[in-house]
Amino acid sequence: ISQREAGSTYRFYTPEINTRALERFEIEQELRHALERNEFIVHYQPVVDMNTGTITGCEALLRWNNQTLGAVSPGRFIPVAEETDLIVPIGEWVLQTACEQGRRWHEQGLNLRLAVNISAKQLRRAEFPDTVLTILRNTGVDPASSSLTMEITESELMEDAEGTAKLLKNLQARGLSISIDDFGTGYSSLSYLKRLPVDTLKIDISFIRDITRSHDDAAIVKAIIALAHSLDMKVVAEGVETREQFTALRAIGCDAAQGFLFSPAVLAADFEKLNGRCFTPQLS
Ligand code: C2E
Ligand code: MG
Ligand code: MG
Ligand code: MG
Repeated sequence: ISQREAGSTYRFYTPEINTRALERFEIEQELRHALERNEFIVHYQPVVDMNTGTITGCEALLRWNNQTLGAVSPGRFIPVAEETDLIVPIGEWVLQTACEQGRRWHEQGLNLRLAVNISAKQLRRAEFPDTVLTILRNTGVDPASSSLTMEITESELMEDAEGTAKLLKNLQARGLSISIDDFGTGYSSLSYLKRLPVDTLKIDISFIRDITRSHDDAAIVKAIIALAHSLDMKVVAEGVETREQFTALRAIGCDAAQGFLFSPAVLAADFEKLNGRCFTPQLS
């Protein structure tokens, strides 16, 4: 190692980076015991139908409250879980927990579409389809009633698109729905859309944020909706926070929306209280 490289290597270890490396290390250590210590909980965020204003489903979002680190956001721990493959057992637990909840809601007469985030690390496991089908069987969720959606991010779908297409077709044939999460952020060719068995596009929050102020963002969202509809897909807008965004999205034909305007992700019991509410641009 040359003098110069040694110098730059030395400079790499700034206190700030040390702190970050330490934090990541702590998260990893704590994450290894999080399942057995029952530190996870699944919250549910409503998905609102733009035409009726009613809640037609929800997205399961993982929450982690650690004994020493406190509440850690998914943005911090999910990447660590993915790098360490801990996402495989953790993701399986989320799926199991969400399906158990979906089954209870179904028994209460609530017919909700349940969306669960699936990491590429889970998807690439040879046993993944069996794991999903076993969970559905054990929890009594009927995949044929098409009530379970798997959300996969655009960038993750793009790695090995051929293999993924085959796998997803297999799951779709058994009644599961597929949704592309954070759509528009993957910088990918659109031609893959016709090869993948996709039911729904979730437009990333970054395009929704300025939709009422930015002509460009509005044009992009309009184009995504037109594209999706012409391919027989539904569109969900992520991160709807204002009435104005709601109205604008409704006017351009967006099918459904999620966001703080309606509700953040909440405990199952609180989600039940939201159910039956009608969200219209005037009332909400
Ligand atoms: P995502 O799947 O795109 O989920 C949407 C994120 O946007 C959630 O953040 C949600 O709380 C947030 N959100 C919803 N409405 C609004 C809004 O109106 N404004 C703003 N600013 N944000 C809003 P969260 O829960 O922190 O999750 C972040 C990401 O972590 C998720 O993005 C997903 O990629 C990942 N994640 C969460 N739970 C799981 C899980 O069980 N498995 C996997 N593999 N990933 C998960
Ligand atoms: Mg998602
Ligand atoms: Mg998203
Ligand atoms: Mg996201």
